[in-house]
Amino acid sequence: MNQPRLIVIDDEPDLAGFVCEVAGQTGYAVEQYHNAGLFIEQYDKRADVIVLDLMMPGMDGVEVIRFLAGIDCDTQLILISGFDSGVLHSAQKLATEQGLNFAGSLNKPFRYDDLHKLLSELSIMAKSAARQIAFEAPPVDELRDALKNNELLLHYQPKVGLNGYSVTAVEALVRWQHPVHGLLGPDLFIPVAEKHGLIDDLTWIVLEQAMAQCQSWGEQGLTVQIAVNMSSNTLKELDLPERMGDLVQRYGQEPSQLIFEVTETALMQELTKSLDILTRLRMRGFHLSIDDFGTGYSSLVQLHRAPFSEIKIDRSFVMDMDRDKESYAIIETVIVLGHKLGMKVVAEGVETQANLEQLAAMGCDLAQGYHIARPQPGVATTVWLVEYNTVG
Ligand code: C2E
Ligand code: CA
Ligand code: CA
Repeated sequence: MNQPRLIVIDDEPDLAGFVCEVAGQTGYAVEQYHNAGLFIEQYDKRADVIVLDLMMPGMDGVEVIRFLAGIDCDTQLILISGFDSGVLHSAQKLATEQGLNFAGSLNKPFRYDDLHKLLSELSIMAKSAARQIAFEAPPVDELRDALKNNELLLHYQPKVGLNGYSVTAVEALVRWQHPVHGLLGPDLFIPVAEKHGLIDDLTWIVLEQAMAQCQSWGEQGLTVQIAVNMSSNTLKELDLPERMGDLVQRYGQEPSQLIFEVTETALMQELTKSLDILTRLRMRGFHLSIDDFGTGYSSLVQLHRAPFSEIKIDRSFVMDMDRDKESYAIIETVIVLGHKLGMKVVAEGVETQANLEQLAAMGCDLAQGYHIARPQPGVATTVWLVEYNTVG
């Protein structure tokens, strides 16, 4: 039987026993260590989940994190600590920065329900990962053909204003209609395109399709901006602003119809060059949005230097805002910061009405997420837009 395997490392036998009991009920094969040194000596790299106490006598949890990073461990990691949640957060950051899969944290004392929920979710993931192992990223040659054979298409997800709920824009999200595997999401093939120098071609295919859609909506009396995701590689072409200018002109559109979403990480890669390009794009009237904000490393100074008109709070904070006070505080702070710097603030990953209302009350300008609409093909988006505008 294919049972997921869980290891607990905690010097308190009672607590380790409790975790094992809950994990056992959730379907895991369990093992416990009350001594981190012993775990390190004996670990055979075969766990699906490791539950790690940060504070232990002798070797502590941070040292175990370093060990796991050193062996390129891809196991899901849950951290537990008796300290305040600030300590858990720093340890979490330390773990993710070293490439570990951080799956969640628990503050002692924690409840049965919290642990049970976390372990159930991970067990489902472990099982589906085992099933999907045969389906990895498609080979680069297939992707190259796909670009030639028009197998890429766009889905659109609306961004709505929180003040009156009007639709201001849609984000274009690329998909690959694969002849054998069906519709594939971008996380599966964008990294392949980036690694093999195909991302520029891909971006231009996306831009052409987005502009054609924009033109068609315009003809139907629908004015919406389109946001397009930009990879760092594309931000390195110095003639980008001129090419973009030509593109919008060819479709009879204005630059202000286009928003480029750039992640903090992309921006930082060659800061001077990207700033040159971004500044000239902005001067031509294109809009710029800083994507996945809060997950990268940009400082306030850099944010201020770059000519962004919008900031998108990463969906991880929004999806956590109900149960995590730090996420809530980060959202509140980013809203104030964005406004002080003269930017519109967007929350992505909004999945509930409660979150939508909370964000509106916090002064957030725009929201995007499954609760409002899932990404959908152009035709369905048109219907959605017409309906939303008449009802909303
Ligand atoms: P992103 O820019 O952060 O895009 C938002 C992602 O969040 C989309 O996933 C969207 O489907 C998903 N999402 C939206 N609302 C919700 C929600 O309420 N809950 C949850 N759990 N998820 C939500 P998708 O379409 O799979 O795109 C993933 C990433 O792929 C994008 O992240 C973006 O970084 C990249 N990407 C997509 N299209 C392009 C493209 O044309 N070019 C480039 N370079 N990257 C792209
Ligand atoms: Ca985006
Ligand atoms: Ca994002």
